[in-house]
Amino acid sequence: MKRQISLIISLVIMSGYAAAQSSFIFQNKEIKAGTKEHFSIPIVNGQDSTFIPISVFNGVEDGETLGITAGVHGYEYAPIMGAQKLIHSINPQKLKGVVILVQVAGVESFLGRSPYISPVDGRNLNRTFPGEENGTTTERVANFISEHIISRADYFLDMHSGDAPEDLMKYGAYYSNSDMPEISAKGKEMALSLGFDHVVVFNTDGKDYMKADMPSLYCTAEAFKRGIPSIDIECGRLGIMEQDAVDKVTGSVLNLLDYLGFLPLDAKRVEVESPILISNRIYSASNFDGIFYPAKKAGDYVIKGMKLGHVTDYFGVILQTIYAEEDGLLLMIISTPPVNKGEDVTVIAKVD
Ligand SMILES: [Zn+2]
Repeated sequence: MKRQISLIISLVIMSGYAAAQSSFIFQNKEIKAGTKEHFSIPIVNGQDSTFIPISVFNGVEDGETLGITAGVHGYEYAPIMGAQKLIHSINPQKLKGVVILVQVAGVESFLGRSPYISPVDGRNLNRTFPGEENGTTTERVANFISEHIISRADYFLDMHSGDAPEDLMKYGAYYSNSDMPEISAKGKEMALSLGFDHVVVFNTDGKDYMKADMPSLYCTAEAFKRGIPSIDIECGRLGIMEQDAVDKVTGSVLNLLDYLGFLPLDAKRVEVESPILISNRIYSASNFDGIFYPAKKAGDYVIKGMKLGHVTDYFGVILQTIYAEEDGLLLMIISTPPVNKGEDVTVIAKVD
């Protein structure tokens, strides 16, 4: 009798274990436990067609789902190449839960070497969420990501870098809102786990894009509005393929997977001892079209009144000098010559 009971118990345990290793269905395709599958999702409207390359990793143990997007801006190479490395670093045989990784959300922008916007419809994907099922190509891409990836995620990460003209400091960021304290706190922990020295909080209190009847615009904001802890990586600059930035992106995602309990790191996760939190950013814009001459680099500590750069016309006449409005870290500075009226040329981070 005793033996029978222990047999029943072990059968129950075994069947429980078997149930823990379930398949994951994505786009009507079954992804078996402990495997990964790659998808090229066609996005077609009347005139144009494109696709979204997506990798789905299904772990050996049941768990939660992490959605990750790279290449929402197709000229931001460090996250795109970091995502390529993740194909090999995320071992589904050791994974708990599911990772859905968009390799390049804006393939047209990537192949067209087009900063910020898609050359097909002139839209900035990161101002187009939640998208339109029957809209332009970019609107359809946003719609697919909203409805088929963000909608399935328990956690969300969107990865960017400094686009073609932007010299940018590396940082992690999280979305925060006073009405969503727990989700915001989880996002903060996730952002800290990435391992950046600097973590920016995007305070969304009172923002129009957080209103139910207004479009979310940003990929991460779409996730956050749905009550998902949501974070960003900003790593890399000036549309350059720098290997250390690529490695930092990959390492950050692996840190996050370890923190969330999806995939243990081989070694103990190295935590930043005193990360610098940034909640206040000061933008300075150019008042003219013309040529911008930066006087500082991203990451420089600047003092109020310090010259950050100047704008000239096409004959070398100085039209405007940009001075630091506050003490702080230079988070971003435009560092290629073209500048447009109304465009932000510097962002200073006030350190908390
Ligand atoms: Zn971007």
